[in-house]
Amino acid sequence: LLQLVGVSKHFGALKAVDDVSLDIRSGSVTCLVGPSGSGKSTLLRTVNMMEEINEGAILFEGKMIGHEVRNGHRVPVSKKVARQQTLNFGMVFQHFNLFPHYTALENVTAAPMIVKGLRKKDAETIGRRVLEQVGLGSRMDHYPSELSGGQQQRVAIARALAMEPKVLLFDEPTSALDPELVAEVLAVMKGLAEQGSTMMIVTHEMRFAEDVADEVVMMDAGRIIERGAPQEILHNPKTPRAKKFFASVG
Ligand code: ATP
Ligand code: MG
Repeated sequence: LLQLVGVSKHFGALKAVDDVSLDIRSGSVTCLVGPSGSGKSTLLRTVNMMEEINEGAILFEGKMIGHEVRNGHRVPVSKKVARQQTLNFGMVFQHFNLFPHYTALENVTAAPMIVKGLRKKDAETIGRRVLEQVGLGSRMDHYPSELSGGQQQRVAIARALAMEPKVLLFDEPTSALDPELVAEVLAVMKGLAEQGSTMMIVTHEMRFAEDVADEVVMMDAGRIIERGAPQEILHNPKTPRAKKFFASVG
């Protein structure tokens, strides 16, 4: 479904993402792990075209996105095409970034109405469905300030789902939560995985990765240093760097 081929992203002399190749099958869950600054967020942001890549290519359904070849030269796609292509992706961030003056339902229906031009009634039908899906059927008319952190993050997940993306991207979705609220968000994510959603998840929740991931990918200094089935990579890492990392995160 989604392929990264030799993708690099530089910030000046820093190679935040350095020659990364990934193959994300439809319906698969890929967990990205690694130390702080290893390029996990940057990698996720390149997929979503929040960062322009310097080298390599990203293919969605076999077609290059973000760039196109014109007269033999690689050029970024137009803003309009980029906007269309990013609709394939839904991103959930560490900080939920909900609109504080919108209710849960309004937060979820805003993008379908503004970006897709849906009528309010149709957006609300989708909005109710996705809020039910994340277990917030009884909280739709609450404002973010009236919701717990876990509930707010579930609204953020519902907001991504409402756009019906083909790939869900999560960047440390539970890192800003109190420990007792982590489980409810992970349970929603596990449910999405079981329903066949394609997901890329940056996480430090190793038990979740072990439970849900098809592949765990470990990054260090912008590069993939180990990848494989969760059992294998979490319990039997091969490189000293990965051994040390997994020992430190439990
Ligand atoms: P963390 O676990 O702390 O979130 P990460 O693995 O997500 O770390 P990134 O945020 O992708 O790491 O950062 C990778 C490297 O790129 C870091 O050294 C970071 O300082 C650098 N970096 C990220 N964004 C920018 C930017 N906009 N400008 C300059 N450097 C950046
Ligand atoms: Mg990050």
